Amino acid sequence: MFEGLKNCVMGEQLESFQVEHFQLVVRPDEESRHLAERIRRALIEAGFTTSETPQLVIAVGGDGTMLEAFHRFYKRIPKAAFVGLHTGTLGFYADWKRHEVDWMIETIIKNRTPKIVEYPLVSAIFEHQDGRRLRHLALNEAIVKSKTLSTFVVDVWINGERFETFRGDGLIVSTPSGSTAYSHSVGGSIIHPSIQALQVSELAAINNVEYRTLGRSFVLPRHHVLDIYPMHADGEILVGIDGNVFYMKDVVRIQAHVAEEKVRFARFRHFPFWQRVRMKFLGD
Ligand code: NAD
Repeated sequence: MFEGLKNCVMGEQLESFQVEHFQLVVRPDEESRHLAERIRRALIEAGFTTSETPQLVIAVGGDGTMLEAFHRFYKRIPKAAFVGLHTGTLGFYADWKRHEVDWMIETIIKNRTPKIVEYPLVSAIFEHQDGRRLRHLALNEAIVKSKTLSTFVVDVWINGERFETFRGDGLIVSTPSGSTAYSHSVGGSIIHPSIQALQVSELAAINNVEYRTLGRSFVLPRHHVLDIYPMHADGEILVGIDGNVFYMKDVVRIQAHVAEEKVRFARFRHFPFWQRVRMKFLGD
């Protein structure tokens, strides 16, 4: 049963709901499988049930496992909340580490009504020559690149006005929670996920006397619309959505904005975003 909104802190909506059904998404390695089985047994013993329509999705593995869990469940069960147990060195989306598994199990059993935080997603619509519109939601980012090694040339428009012609390797349109992923590696800023925004970053832009781009990442607020128009005749592009790769043909426009939908994380304990950033980039 999902209850209504209870309070609002620092722009992140916090609500609580009752967990009865759960599902595990597990990285296929021995340790992750072993820990997942331990979680499954303990939760079932405590009266929870596994379900394909879970309220709680537990990702056991790395950030990639959380991204996989999100893509497996968000369409069918938009209300599902996610929590992660990390079995690698450090997972940005995971609140718990491998040696904390028993503590995590105990906390879930004791606290069936965790707080929920909601983070923004990017909506990317790929419009084809024949009018088809394919929509993808991204938890980290949507990347558009040339299909070949040749220069990726696109016109970039913001809110219906031409902004620039980009020439280079590609563009990254990232969510705030994805700002610590690929976007960070290309010099983008870190954005707190309570900010409803998307960040556009360049991949190897060509800047010389002939060609000019902004040369910096820029951030668009909610309700602003980014349009990317491929300039090659065939409209062939390479698309990355949270690490999943697609080849697309005849794409005439890519439209991106902050999605109406949000991803929900179950917070069984307090683990602030800036603490994650410090641990990941500065060490503990
Ligand atoms: P992967 O195994 O190649 O992971 C890449 C790294 O990104 C891992 O260390 C992972 O922990 C980290 N990561 C993923 N999401 C993160 C986030 N939101 N904040 C901080 N770190 C994060 O691939 P994967 O685990 O399947 O993850 C896919 C993601 O990898 C993509 O969404 C993209 O952001 C990222 N990636 C980064 C680069 C780069 O930095 N040059 C290149 C390709 C992909």
